[in-house]
Amino acid sequence: MIRDQYPRLHAPATSVAARTYELSELLVDVLGVTDVGAEFPETVTYHPTCHGLRMLRLGDRPLTLLRQVRGIQLVELGDAEECCGFGGTFALKNPDVSTAMLTDKCARVRDTGARVLAAADNSCLAHIGGGLNPRTIRAKRARVVDEVPDWEALRDTGSAIKADVQRRLPELLEQFEASVTAAGATVHWARDAAEACRIVVELTRATGADEVVKVKSMATQEIELNEALEAAGIAAYETDLAELIVQLGEDTPSHILVPAIHYNRAQIREIFERRMADAPPDLSDEPAALAEAARAHLRRRFLSARVAVSGANFAVADTGTLVVVESEGNGRMCLTLPETLISVVGVEKLLPTFTDLEVFLQLLPRSSTGERMNPYTSMWTGVTPGDGPQDVHVVLVDNGRSAVLADPVGRPALSCIRCSACLNVCPVYERAGGHAYGSVYPGPIGAILSPQLTGVADNASLPYASTLCGACYDVCPVKINIPEILVHLRQQAPHPPAERATMRLLSWVMRSPRRWTAALRLARAGAGPLGAYRQRRSGARTLRRLPWPASAWTRSRDLPLPAPQTFREWWGKQ
Ligand code: SF4
Repeated sequence: MIRDQYPRLHAPATSVAARTYELSELLVDVLGVTDVGAEFPETVTYHPTCHGLRMLRLGDRPLTLLRQVRGIQLVELGDAEECCGFGGTFALKNPDVSTAMLTDKCARVRDTGARVLAAADNSCLAHIGGGLNPRTIRAKRARVVDEVPDWEALRDTGSAIKADVQRRLPELLEQFEASVTAAGATVHWARDAAEACRIVVELTRATGADEVVKVKSMATQEIELNEALEAAGIAAYETDLAELIVQLGEDTPSHILVPAIHYNRAQIREIFERRMADAPPDLSDEPAALAEAARAHLRRRFLSARVAVSGANFAVADTGTLVVVESEGNGRMCLTLPETLISVVGVEKLLPTFTDLEVFLQLLPRSSTGERMNPYTSMWTGVTPGDGPQDVHVVLVDNGRSAVLADPVGRPALSCIRCSACLNVCPVYERAGGHAYGSVYPGPIGAILSPQLTGVADNASLPYASTLCGACYDVCPVKINIPEILVHLRQQAPHPPAERATMRLLSWVMRSPRRWTAALRLARAGAGPLGAYRQRRSGARTLRRLPWPASAWTRSRDLPLPAPQTFREWWGKQ
C-alpha cells in the first residue's frame, strides 16, 4: 500500500515509498543478510502470495532466507505462482471461483507432504489454513457465520441485550424469581460457592437420594459442586460424554465446550476399561464403539437417578424459563426423567424477555460448535403437572459477580455466553492448552473472568496470558472487548516493588529521545566487551545467565545484547 498506492494519492509520499521495504527485501537487498540464525527442523513448503509476487515483486527473496534456516527441509510447491483465491473482497464477491481456486491450492499443498506451509501474507495463510482444515470448529464457525448476512447486527443486538441486563440486574432477578415461583419452582439465593454447594447438598439429602446425574455446567465446576457432594456422601455422575471422560480420568476439563479435547481415542478407551465397570470387555478405540459404551453406561444412570443437577445457558425474566443448549441429548434425559431438578445458575445468565432468545439461539450454536442450530434445546418453566420433574429448584449464584458488575470496564465479561469461540482462535490457548490457565474458565474469557471473580491478586498471571492480538474480540458473539479488559486487569495486578521502580525508571528514560539515545549508548558501552567475549566463545550475542535479581529473567530466556549499531544510527548514515 505505502509503496504502490500512497504516491498515487499524495505526491510527497513518493520519498517515503522509496524508503519502504518488505521485510525480506530489507534483509536481503538492503542489509545483505540471508542467514537470520533461525533453526526449524520441519518439512516446509512455500506459497508465494500474489501480493508479494506481483505487487511487491519479491521474487525468491523469502526462499533465499528460508533456505538458510537450519534443519529445514524445503519442498517445492506445484503451481506455486497460482493464486489461492483469497484476494480480499474477491473471496466474498466471487465465493464459488474463490473456493475452486482454494481447492486446487490445497491439493498442491497436500501433494508436497510438508507439515508446514509458509507464506509472507497472513490473509492467504488464514484462507489456505481454513481450506486445509475444514473440519476444525474454527473453520466450521467461520463458514456458518459467513452465511448470516446480518451477523454484525446480531452481535450488536446480543451485546446491547446483555448490557441492558447488567444495568437492570436487581430488577430482572426479582422479576425472574416471581415468574419461576409462580410456575411452581423454588428459588434459592447463594452469595458464594460454599452457600450454593450447601443448598444443593441439603436439597439432595431431603430427597433421600445418594446420587445425582449432572448436565454439563460451568457454574457447578466453578463452585466445585462435585467435590462438595462427594464430601457429603453423594455421588455426582457427569453425563456429557466429554465430561464423563474427564471425570473417569480424574482430570479437569481443558476447554469450555470440548473438555476432553486433550485425549485421543486410545486414551479414552484405556480410561473406560479402567474406570467404567460395565464397559464391554472387547472395547475398541473406534469412536462409534466408545460412544456406544458410554451410551449404555449412562442410560442405566438416567433410568435410576432421582435427582438431576443442571446449569442453564439462559434464564428468561419475563416467563421464568430456563434454557439448556446441548448436542448429545444427555441434558434432555437429566431434565425430564428424575423427580427432582436443581439448576445452578449464575445471576448474569438472565435475559429480559423470551423474544431475546431468538438472538442468542442464533449467536450461540454458530459461535460454539459451528452449527446452524444445536441438536437439543431444552426449555422448562417451573413445574408442569404430570410431566417431567415435579420438584424444581433454581439456585441463583452470585459468587463474585456483583463485584464484577461494579467495575464499568470489567463488567462486559458478564456478557459471556460460554461459546468458547475466543479459545478456538487464541494463539496462546492453541499452544498452551486449557490446563495451563489453572482456572475453571480457560482461554481469553478465563483470563478476564477468573481474576475478576476471585480477585486479581489470586490470578495475577492470567491477564498476561495473551498477546493482545484481538482475535478473541473479533469472534466474540457478544462483542466483549477482551484485550481492553486484559489491559485494565494488568494495571490492577500486584507488581513487586523492584519491578515497579524499574518500570518507572524505564518510562522516564523512554519519554525523552535524548535520554533514550544516551541509555542505549551506555548499555552498548557496558555490554561491548561482554558481547565480544560471548561472540568469540560461542558466536552468540545473548547472555544465558545473569546474577540475581536479573537471574529471574535469564532462568527462562536469553538476554539479547545491544546491537553494535542501532537501526537509527545505520539509517542516519545511509
Ligand atoms: S468471551 Fe465471547 S467468544 Fe469467549 S466464550 Fe464468552 S461469548 Fe464466547
